[in-house]
This record gives sequence, structure tokens and C-alpha cells, in this order.
Amino acid sequence: MTPDLTKSERETLKAVYRHTRDGGEAHTGHLAETLGLSPGTVTATVKRLADRGLVDHRPYHGVTFTDTGRREAISAIRRHRIVERFLADMLGYAWNEADALAPAFEHDLPDEVLERMFVALHRPETCPHGFPIPVAGQVELPLLGQLYDLEPGDQAVVAVPGSTDPEVMSFLARLGIVPDVHVEVREKHPFDGPLVVRVGEHDRMLGEKVARQVHVHNVVRAHDSGTSGAAVAS
Ligand SMILES: [Zn+2]
Repeated sequence: MTPDLTKSERETLKAVYRHTRDGGEAHTGHLAETLGLSPGTVTATVKRLADRGLVDHRPYHGVTFTDTGRREAISAIRRHRIVERFLADMLGYAWNEADALAPAFEHDLPDEVLERMFVALHRPETCPHGFPIPVAGQVELPLLGQLYDLEPGDQAVVAVPGSTDPEVMSFLARLGIVPDVHVEVREKHPFDGPLVVRVGEHDRMLGEKVARQVHVHNVVRAHDSGTSGAAVAS
């Protein structure tokens, strides 16, 4: 564990994680946009993280993690997701409110308090968005597949990223497509046509653009080896 990460350092590590999980480098301009900070502020934080051995930042190149940095980023994500769960389950906040409120105090919680929270919440497996809570010390997070990549007969559990356009989010909510809900694909129209999914008692039709914004895990494929998390690559 790296001691005493500040709020801005942890938030920056999380943003680096988001921007590098497809294998690329994070550019400080993009990090600044994600964090809502000026590029100068972000560059200064990145430099502190580099001095502590958590990231590498080569001039004119992007930011990448060291092994320690990646571990710290995942533990920051774990911290965020547990606090989100606490806000949603114990205090009754809506799942999309919990995400926005969590950073107000997640950074000040001692590790021990966080772990007690986790136990008091009955060791939840996902955050209120439906994303997996990593186990302590985990070094890689699974990359979730997209609903649109499923085929007819496939089943999965839904996750909706907090960054989703609020209008898209409420459209999905009206269809019953919310985090942790179980769905089954009924039809997929060819040539990037719409997807029909079974949600509870209803068949719901989604355009490609929207169905790509819905993430899925615990995928059960209709036509292959069965119960593997087929859309989950790490
Ligand atoms: Zn979440």
C-alpha cells in the first residue's frame, strides 16, 4: 500500500485507469477533461504520482501505470464502489446519485473503516451501477462486454456506467434496463439493426447506439461452451 494518497492523486489514478484500460496511454488533456481540471493542475498531479513511482510520464507521450500504480488505481476503484454501495444501500440514495456523492468522503476513510463497511454491507459483489467490486489486492479488472455484442439466446446481467448520458439512462430505466437486472437477447436485426431483449415480462427494443452503452457481465452464451463469462476479457 502506498500511504497517504491525496484525493486529487486518487482521482487522477482512477482517470488514468479509465483512459488506459484498452491498452493505450492516457493523455493529460483527456485526463483534465475527465477530471474537470486544468491541464496544468493535472500535469502537476501526474508529476507527483511519477515521483512516487505510480505512473510513468514521458515528455510528449502519455501517462502509463507502473505495477504499483495499477494496484493503487484498482484499490481506489474498490474504495469508490464500496462507498457507492453504502450510500445506496444504507442511506437510500439512487444509484446514479451515489456515484456523484461518493468522492465527497471516500478519500478520508481509513482502510479499516472501509473494510468494516464492506463487511456490514454483506460483501457486495457489484457497485450500484452493476460493476464488479474488485477483491482487495486484485491487479486487473475484467473489461465488461457490451449488450450489443450478445447474440439471440444469450443471457447476461446489466451494468450501466455512471458516465452515461442522463437522457439515455432514464430511457433505459423506463424500459426496466437498470443495473443488476437480468436480460436475454431475443432477436438481433442484421446490418447494425436493433436488438430485442427480454427484461422481466417484457420484450424491449433497443437501437445499436443505445445497446452499445449498456454493459454486461456473467454472460451465458446460447451457442458455445455454456456458462463462461464469454464477453469478459481481462
Ligand atoms: Zn458504480
